[in-house]
Amino acid sequence: MITGNIIKVAGPLVVAEGMTGAKMYEVVRVSDEKLVGEIIRLEGDKAYIQVYEETGGIAPGQPVFSTGETLSVDLGPGLLESIYDGIQRPLQDIESQTNSSFIGRGINAPALDYSKKWDFVATASVGDKVVAGDIIGTVPETALIEHKVMVPFEVSGTIKSIASGSFTVAEQVAVITTAEGKDVEVQMAQKWPIRKPRPYNKKIEPKKQLVTGLRVLDTAFPNMRGGVACIPGPFGTGKTVTQQSIAKYCDAEVIIYVGCGERGNEMTEVLTEFPHLIDPNSGEPLMKRTVLIANTSNMPVAAREASVYTGLTIAEYYRDMGYGVTVLADSTSRWAESMREMSGRLEEMPGEEGYPAYLGSRIAEFYERGGIVKTLGDADEREGYVTIVGAVSPAGGDISEPVSQNTLRVTKIFWNLDAKLAAQRHYPAINWKTSYSLYGDNVKSDWEDNISKDFPQIRLDMLEILGKESSLEEIVRLVGMDALSGEDRLLLETAKMIREDFLQQNAFDPDDAYCPIDRQYLIIKTIMSFYYKGKEALARGIDVMDIIAIDSKIELARTKELREDAKFAELEKKVADQISVLKPRD
Ligand code: ADP
Repeated sequence: MITGNIIKVAGPLVVAEGMTGAKMYEVVRVSDEKLVGEIIRLEGDKAYIQVYEETGGIAPGQPVFSTGETLSVDLGPGLLESIYDGIQRPLQDIESQTNSSFIGRGINAPALDYSKKWDFVATASVGDKVVAGDIIGTVPETALIEHKVMVPFEVSGTIKSIASGSFTVAEQVAVITTAEGKDVEVQMAQKWPIRKPRPYNKKIEPKKQLVTGLRVLDTAFPNMRGGVACIPGPFGTGKTVTQQSIAKYCDAEVIIYVGCGERGNEMTEVLTEFPHLIDPNSGEPLMKRTVLIANTSNMPVAAREASVYTGLTIAEYYRDMGYGVTVLADSTSRWAESMREMSGRLEEMPGEEGYPAYLGSRIAEFYERGGIVKTLGDADEREGYVTIVGAVSPAGGDISEPVSQNTLRVTKIFWNLDAKLAAQRHYPAINWKTSYSLYGDNVKSDWEDNISKDFPQIRLDMLEILGKESSLEEIVRLVGMDALSGEDRLLLETAKMIREDFLQQNAFDPDDAYCPIDRQYLIIKTIMSFYYKGKEALARGIDVMDIIAIDSKIELARTKELREDAKFAELEKKVADQISVLKPRD
């Protein structure tokens, strides 16, 4: 073990000399208080250490101890339902240990419960040939998720012993004899360095939609299983409500929420609300398939920097089991700010707005860890995905700043929460003019195969109508409604229906909070049938005012309340019939 000597303390940055032999990203313990730190730069015998705890009282002359380990997370049964800080210290346990929600300095609590016994069910047998990533057993981790125990990376060989039974995460569940004749013990718990993406067999193109049940997201700006999205979060625009809806209803199996709140109360809100959310499919607490990573306000900024990697590593671990995982990171701006602060203290050459020059590549690497993959392992064709939804919170909502710009460069989706729409109480306040999804082609084949051939075109027509609406509104403002053609009037009428009767969705209405994708299709198809039939009628010389005045328009406004397929068809027919009997005015 190397023991160095502190020569400088600057906030979360500590510099120590006498560290020859220490490695980059090695975890060190700072001072006799044993604060957790990580080496982020080495220069000669000097180590620059990012400290994850308050450094008040730490001074030159005090010691630094190397550990030989890189900053890693513990992976194994018991992750789900946990609430961790940025370096995976369990907040609940610490709270009960210290009777305070503030983590004292130097506290060391294991991330997994090393005394709890789990029921391990062996699914592989003695004599089986296995490679890294193969599943050799399962554990009922929670009522909702079965944990898969995998052969650790870089291990392959023949199973020498394995047995079902009751084990702690540190006990041996199997022994694998490698080709070289070496016996490797397998435990349920593994460690993984957080900054190193977990390997997989290969990345594949996202092919199935990640359905969230929110119409404006799913139909207008669809995300994929393994997709990457960003959502800005101006205060009061419904960021929390939207993220909770995604967490509750999206069809990923596991949810990882990484909170880097600036204000303590933002995080407290999440910590108090999340544990009460109920999984709509099972009626069980949502926490049974969730891991929360929370940077409480008393933690130094450096911990925020690590927290997103902690979250991603846990997400990749469940992906490797073959699960779908959604990571909600809120907010990546706070994460970037912690990078900026450290970079400043390291006296690096600043880039735009004081952010380090590597900001763009760090953001790209972060989103790069999302995706759908063929996992390691020979035994089955397993696929797993990590979908990332990263919130950004640009000051004043101005997305020309570097974090937003670098994020938009790599994410395929921009769900733009808009303060003006929220003020008008148009919820979810996603601006349909500025938001976009680049997954249109991916979702097209999914919809054609699983919902309907005409859904992609209906979506495009819908977006086109919404796009044209704003330019027409400008004309109306300047010269009045009379200047518009019949077709323009029909378009405006349809756009209003799309906005009010389709895109708007009340998260607090139990009948409407979640809308399945096949129903989303039926609703928009029925609304759009008014437009398509109306256009045909205009071509026959029908006056637009007569089209707009048909009786069934009142029912159309309530299409989203319909449930049975036949009712949608009935309404569509009624609209078509009422328009077809219209006669041109004399
Ligand atoms: P933020 O987290 O952006 O500060 P919230 O998510 O707390 O904002 O939303 C603020 C308020 O807006 C909520 O309390 C709620 O009244 C309203 N709201 C937001 N989204 C919706 C929605 N989808 N349906 C209904 N009301 C909403």
